[in-house]
Amino acid sequence: MYPFLGCRQSRLVTGLLLSAFLLLTSCDDQITDPGDDDTSDPGNGDTNGDVSFHRDGPGDSARDFLTDEDFTDLYIEVQYMEGYEPDADLEEILEDFLSEYIHKNQITIDVTSISSQGRESYTSEEVRELEEEYRTAYNDEADDVLNAYLLLLDGEFDNRDVLGIAYWNTSMALFQKRIEDISGGLGGPSQDVVERTVAKHELGHILGLVDNGTPMQNDHKDEGRGAHCDDDECLMYYAMTRDFLSDFLIGGSVPDFDEFCKEDLQANGGR
Ligand SMILES: [Zn+2]
Ligand SMILES: [Zn+2]
Repeated sequence: MYPFLGCRQSRLVTGLLLSAFLLLTSCDDQITDPGDDDTSDPGNGDTNGDVSFHRDGPGDSARDFLTDEDFTDLYIEVQYMEGYEPDADLEEILEDFLSEYIHKNQITIDVTSISSQGRESYTSEEVRELEEEYRTAYNDEADDVLNAYLLLLDGEFDNRDVLGIAYWNTSMALFQKRIEDISGGLGGPSQDVVERTVAKHELGHILGLVDNGTPMQNDHKDEGRGAHCDDDECLMYYAMTRDFLSDFLIGGSVPDFDEFCKEDLQANGGR
């Protein structure tokens, strides 16, 4: 029962704090559109890119990711805080994963480090501020590359049972410290498996799952649990980014999208 208890508590607290910003239940790991009042200046002098493109909600650019209509290539900038480097295979694994579902000539993932912030926990607003400070790659109208961003943090989310979030249309974060803490135990999943599961799940939100930018073809949305799939073996099941995800990792391996999620992606222009 504890997942439901934790869910209600987090809904109450987060709802009080962020009700103005959240359109969906905060029981979701996914942070929804920050709203029209978000006019924050990126303050990034390193790019001439179109930052405003990157300030929509998760799933709002699903078709841009799934098809090659407007963008032929995809570039994902991964930044980790010192001491929390992802597994060396993560780039290749995510490239292979995405190439199964999206139409791009080239998918490039680039991993760099930023300085540790040394904080125990981060709010979604603080994650956004970090992106504004450190992200360097934005879409440039002169080329056909879609740019996305994945930030790996040295702490936990303020809702500590959540291991990752998608917070803008091209933006995701993983709470590496918490991932490290909950993995590697006796009989439990390895840190690599948890890291890959959470990263792929957040990419699923960026691709518009479930029914949040990519329309649902058959009813498989988990009512009351945000933009998630009701199949507890699917990558888009809500528990796949929770600290109890090991209960749902069959054979300790990273889950994939189930048939319903795959069908949705195909119907919205994906592979
Ligand atoms: Zn989710
Ligand atoms: Zn599914």
